[in-house]
Amino acid sequence: MISVNNVGWIEKEKPTAGPLDAILKPIAVAPCSSDTHVSHGGAGPFENRILGHESVGEVVEVGSAVKNFKPGDKVIVNCVTPDWESPVVQDGFDNNAHDAVSMSGFKFVTQKDGVFAEFYHVNNADGNLFPLPEDISLEDALMTTDMMSTGFHAVENAEIKYGDTVVVFGIGPVGLMAVAGSAIAGAGKIYAIGTRPNCAALAREYGATDIISYKEGNIVDQILDLNKGQVDKVIIAGGNGESFNQALQLTRANGIISNVNFLDVTDVINFPAPLWGLGMSNVTFKSGFCPGGARRIERLVRLIQAGRVKPGKLLNYKFEGFDKIEEAFKMMDEKPRDLIKPYVLI
Ligand code: NAP
Ligand code: ZN
Repeated sequence: MISVNNVGWIEKEKPTAGPLDAILKPIAVAPCSSDTHVSHGGAGPFENRILGHESVGEVVEVGSAVKNFKPGDKVIVNCVTPDWESPVVQDGFDNNAHDAVSMSGFKFVTQKDGVFAEFYHVNNADGNLFPLPEDISLEDALMTTDMMSTGFHAVENAEIKYGDTVVVFGIGPVGLMAVAGSAIAGAGKIYAIGTRPNCAALAREYGATDIISYKEGNIVDQILDLNKGQVDKVIIAGGNGESFNQALQLTRANGIISNVNFLDVTDVINFPAPLWGLGMSNVTFKSGFCPGGARRIERLVRLIQAGRVKPGKLLNYKFEGFDKIEEAFKMMDEKPRDLIKPYVLI
């Protein structure tokens, strides 16, 4: 990213590793909607910043205090890489790591150069890298770094219980992982909102019981009608400021609304108080950024190894070669209707 709305290649020095850090070269990377969002200035006016935060890589250099990794090791890199010695992280806030500043555990792109580079820097290598297992596909591994972690985090925040009725706004890759996670958590009904046919087919495969089009009629009426009333939980993984208003109309008293959608700096969330029971409904709003570190990846990998989910199915466009990162990024930005998610094998 050269400047806002101006994406192209940048020449930079190879990064260097501090004592706890590692330098990696990418094996496989994927662009995220959050990269495109940042490139358009949605998170602030970044300049001369290398994009990309979803990667499987090979270690090329480690700092003097790194114990568990050496050059040549292949690793999965959580897109959130906290400094584990920070007191805020030790209090359990690994995603919003420093002084509880939103997203501060997310260093790639927002605080330093990302992974769409010949070499990239990972802080706290021992805490943030997970060895690439031999018994899962590269595609499944790549999708743990952000999409699966985020979609499943939305489910964790929604506290889905057996038999819950759940609405998932959005069936892009994040929403699809929220559908898959809800099904694993035991949801009884999953109403998934979106229109792209490939995404709708995969949503059904991952466990959606009904697909709702936001382009055909009022989604609130459609779901209230199908569910014969309000639902227990709503996950927001797509949509806009208006989605919060709709989510409130859909959620029963004592329910939970769990958002992982990356809103824009210009978005305003506005809703009439009666929708929130004049503040008395006990409906909880949760916002969530995906958790960081190697342990998180280990847990997600276990679900893949047990055959409970195949997140690699999200990747329906494959590019080969480092130079193709630019094309994959543009595809993610333009989102052709048959796209779920592109990736690049380096
Ligand atoms: P995406 O591919 O653009 O998917 C968005 C989904 O929302 C699509 O299914 C779209 O349907 C649907 N949608 C659009 N307008 C809607 C509306 N008015 N009502 C209901 N649904 C609507 O995006 P993604 O890659 O899955 O990412 C989703 C969000 O998660 C992004 O904001 C991304 O930045 C964010 N994210 C957050 C985290 C985190 O840790 N919190 C991490 C990664 C990504 P159609 O395709 O049919 O239009
Ligand atoms: Zn992302």
